[in-house]
Amino acid sequence: MKFVSTGGESPAADLRTALTRGLAPDGGLYLPERMDPIDASILAGLRGKSFSVVSRAVARHLLGSTIPAADLDRIVDDALDFEVPLVRLSDDGSEDDLYLLELFHGPTLAFKDVGARFMARLLGYLRGEDGAPLTILVATSGDTGSAVAQAFLGVSGVRTVILFPKGKVTPLQERQFSTLGGNVNVLEVHGTFDDCQRLVKSAFSDPLLADEVHLSSANSINIGRLLPQIFYYVHAAAQLPAGSAPLFSVPSGNFGNLTAGLMAKRLGVGCRGFVAVTNVNDVVPEYLRTGVVRPRPSTPTISNAMDVGDPSNLARILALYGRDLDDLRKDLVGSVHDDDETRKCIAEVYRKTGYVLDPHSAVGYLGVESGRQAFGEGPCVVLCTAHPAKFREAVEPAIGDTVPIPERLAACLEAERHVTTIPPEMSALRDFLLEK
Ligand SMILES: *Cc1c(COP(=O)(O)O)cnc(C)c1O
Repeated sequence: MKFVSTGGESPAADLRTALTRGLAPDGGLYLPERMDPIDASILAGLRGKSFSVVSRAVARHLLGSTIPAADLDRIVDDALDFEVPLVRLSDDGSEDDLYLLELFHGPTLAFKDVGARFMARLLGYLRGEDGAPLTILVATSGDTGSAVAQAFLGVSGVRTVILFPKGKVTPLQERQFSTLGGNVNVLEVHGTFDDCQRLVKSAFSDPLLADEVHLSSANSINIGRLLPQIFYYVHAAAQLPAGSAPLFSVPSGNFGNLTAGLMAKRLGVGCRGFVAVTNVNDVVPEYLRTGVVRPRPSTPTISNAMDVGDPSNLARILALYGRDLDDLRKDLVGSVHDDDETRKCIAEVYRKTGYVLDPHSAVGYLGVESGRQAFGEGPCVVLCTAHPAKFREAVEPAIGDTVPIPERLAACLEAERHVTTIPPEMSALRDFLLEK
């Protein structure tokens, strides 16, 4: 399998190149060169099977020509060692067709675990047994750091260096990456998130590091993070009664999750359509309405992992549909919801069913209505992207109750921190990278 750039100006790259580069040389994002449908008989055989069986099959379909099946199975099993349950939300009987796909049972309780863990193992594998050690450098304002750090924890031949702005991430977020130890190094920067990002960028072009340290990034545009997200769409469809074509409501920020869904459709997953549902950061729904892409600074909301004013994966969506808006509209409708609606939704779903949605999943839930209007009745699947305990400040006032902290989160609140503090200067980062 080769990968082509959405920019159209770079040569096709093999998997290893696409993964280690992240961004194509022409500034575009990588997509698989071909997306042949999975055999209908194979898809039928996946009905009712576990997430891991489904994931193995889809991984083989996509990457089987590059990686031997046994190795690929091992990567899948190691990366995706948690369940992705499809929960039926039954209340007063009016929502018989509503399902929640819980993507938050990985180690950091957010769906980014799926992409980050798979990419980490793929990178570790492709680097090879005796390749030069790889340093993954990441700047984080909160959640990405923990997903990436957890993902690379214990992957041999790789060290992770996380930069975060001192005092600017929540204590819980910080604990999630600073207590890991092992091959995860954490730098607390006396500065802002922008300082952290600037340092990471400078490191990649630093001539004094170039010969000494083999740097790679793990940001959300990496194709290695996108591919495994296709697995859970196939899995969700395979849990539903045969012949039913669901619609998927996808709470979105950078639109990687939704892009993976559109790719799953390309691979033959039967579905009625998709909802691109956002908080007030609505660049994509606006594009679907007006045909104009208008990137702008993001507005803070309670579903803050979706506060994105210039969604990077829109380039992939446009490329998948050959920039044909009418064609895209056949599969995709937009839906936009503000914080008030989100809080009300959390409260109402809790009152009616006892189920606690986090703010991101609640935005997804709110998108179902637009989906039904656009694509008709039938099963609806809401992608639930975070555990409510990660967003207790917003959730608890809405439901008027406490959200228990899962064991996994509670444990890291007790554990020891491993943090090095540095000033926001390249020389400090360089010294750290060279010394270790
Ligand atoms: C990152 C994130 C999103 C947005 O996903 P994209 O793939 O960037 O659209 C939604 N919810 C949560 C909890 C996230 O962490």
